[in-house]
Amino acid sequence: MLVVKLGGALGNEAEPVLRALPAHRPCLLVHGGSAEADRLSEALGRPARFLASPTGVVSRYTDAEHLDHVTMAIAGRANTALVARLQRSGVPAVGLSGVDGGLVRARRKEAVRAVLDGRTVHVRDDLSGAIESVNAALLGTLVDAGYVPVVSPPALAADGAVVNVDADRLAARVAVAVHADALLLLTNVPGLLRRVDEPSSLVAEVPSARFEEFLSLAQGRMKKKLLAAHEAAAGGVPRAVIGASQGPDPIGAALGGAGTVVA
Ligand code: ADP
Repeated sequence: MLVVKLGGALGNEAEPVLRALPAHRPCLLVHGGSAEADRLSEALGRPARFLASPTGVVSRYTDAEHLDHVTMAIAGRANTALVARLQRSGVPAVGLSGVDGGLVRARRKEAVRAVLDGRTVHVRDDLSGAIESVNAALLGTLVDAGYVPVVSPPALAADGAVVNVDADRLAARVAVAVHADALLLLTNVPGLLRRVDEPSSLVAEVPSARFEEFLSLAQGRMKKKLLAAHEAAAGGVPRAVIGASQGPDPIGAALGGAGTVVA
């Protein structure tokens, strides 16, 4: 089983990934939609804000209003568009957010530590969570019946509240839960780069023994991707690759080792 995560930031290309996907069934698609969420919240007059942790990991500041925007943009519009596109090419895709069927359970973070104006503060109205479990049985039922699940944030907390989760970490947890043979995190860059603006500085492999060293190379959102790939590898997924969503066959390329292979 293959798990592909398609990035949602600007510069990602869905079309080549969706064109390549049917040849790799049984498979599962996980997606984010950050550009879509940013666009919607901007249009609604309340642009997205971001929090940087003391270690430099950047996450979306998801207060109640922004959670609505994220849900509308990602679980709504982006998910529906991907499912419709796959259906058009004859793939029986089924869209699910982490809330559907209790697919993804998450624990809401009481307070998020963030650096604001050089000071570490505790943000208490952030409605994001750490993933606790994935309902692999539900995914298995769909896949066994021939469907291709298309999975997005948000997730469900124990008290029934909706909480945002990171799509890369979600993809990693899904890959571990379904015992995937490979997890491909496809994004708008060729992989982990030694210098962000230099595609030729690609790191071909991140061995687990040198994970911390390479984590410090990644900034912002790439840190989450590296953490997610490492989490999948540590959880038993034999192949975890961060690669480009662009190009004629992004899935074949990443499976063939193009990008950053994380052990
Ligand atoms: P997606 O929506 O595809 O998941 P993200 O924006 O979340 O994409 O993450 C990819 C981004 O991470 C890149 O576009 C790049 O700007 C940023 N980044 C930061 N540090 C690095 C690095 N060392 N190598 C590659 N990308 C990096």
